[in-house]
Amino acid sequence: TNKPLCQSSEDTPLASRETVQKPRILTGDRPTGRLHLGHYVGSLQNRVKLQDQYECFFIIADLHTLTTRPEKTAIQEIAGNAREMVLDYLAAGVDPQISTVYLQSAVPEIYELNLLFEMLVTVPRLQRLPSLKDMARSANLQEMPFGLLGYPILQSGDILLPRAHLVPVGKDNEAHVELTREIARRFNHLYGEVFPIPEVLVGDVPTLVGTDGKAKMSKSLNNTIYLSDDATAVEKKVRGMFTDPNRVSADVPGTVEGNPVFIYHRIFNPDTAEVADLEERYRSGTVGDVEVKQRLAEALNRFLDPLRERRAAYEAEKGLVDKIILEGTLRVREEARQTLAEVRKATGLGGV
Ligand code: ATP
Ligand code: MG
Repeated sequence: TNKPLCQSSEDTPLASRETVQKPRILTGDRPTGRLHLGHYVGSLQNRVKLQDQYECFFIIADLHTLTTRPEKTAIQEIAGNAREMVLDYLAAGVDPQISTVYLQSAVPEIYELNLLFEMLVTVPRLQRLPSLKDMARSANLQEMPFGLLGYPILQSGDILLPRAHLVPVGKDNEAHVELTREIARRFNHLYGEVFPIPEVLVGDVPTLVGTDGKAKMSKSLNNTIYLSDDATAVEKKVRGMFTDPNRVSADVPGTVEGNPVFIYHRIFNPDTAEVADLEERYRSGTVGDVEVKQRLAEALNRFLDPLRERRAAYEAEKGLVDKIILEGTLRVREEARQTLAEVRKATGLGGV
């Protein structure tokens, strides 16, 4: 599984694509591991919902992983992680016949845009972004790497390369899309209209709490439920979930607000009558945590079952994921060539 991606071009296309112009979506994820419920509610759900209305570009943002982990061992993990991640996309309902999935590092024009955009942003503007400090901290970096400071500029390159109109992301990425809008406006002002000003679309749940009650579900905090977890793993994780810490026994009235078990119930349990009943009994001290969690595990497993089935079906098609990534990347490279031709024309820079 460490075989590099996008290194053969003998494959035949998966499908011929529509040529009708639709507005475009760009979003994606760093290939750092499997996707979890936070990724789903923050961004993935909107991609699936909108993929018929928009022409969708989903980027495997491998260069972004280098901002905190540039070492070769980390690079060697990218291909395997990317394959798992694309399976998660497919499991969630991304349709490879209509959406384009591609590998960031295989599109050098993104780095070209990155350099041009660097001229349009100040260092203090970047230093004010809390997300970058958080990332440096969670990667245990003493000082800010230049590339990490430039993370949102590279992301602007991702977004503007296919000239996207909409960017579905979680709350933590909202400020980066705002910066992208500034860059696009500034570029257009200096050189002429090349880029649409992209809108951000934050998911129904802007930030999903972790199973431990911490503000954000995140791999590095080890408080995740993965889309690919099996039923037993989900049950186990839910059993260990943080609830109302002041509740010492089932006959003590409990607090529902801010309680992650109930937050998840409201998001993932479509049986609203059951949720209302559990909340009522929790508040009055007539239901135990064990039952509330048992019902949540069942709801989550009902939610994940169709994803598991789709994942297994796609996984059984050997080589499919690599083919999706290769074909998507070739398509974006053509797109990239066109955008850079426009950029060179607008700026007056040389190059063919
Ligand atoms: P993790 O923190 O688990 O390693 P990540 O931060 O590396 O995940 P990114 O690639 O940065 O994941 O983010 C991918 C997308 O998922 C972004 O749009 C991000 O906002 C969204 N996202 C990640 N975690 C959450 C969450 N807990 N709630 C809502 N959205 C989330
Ligand atoms: Mg993140």
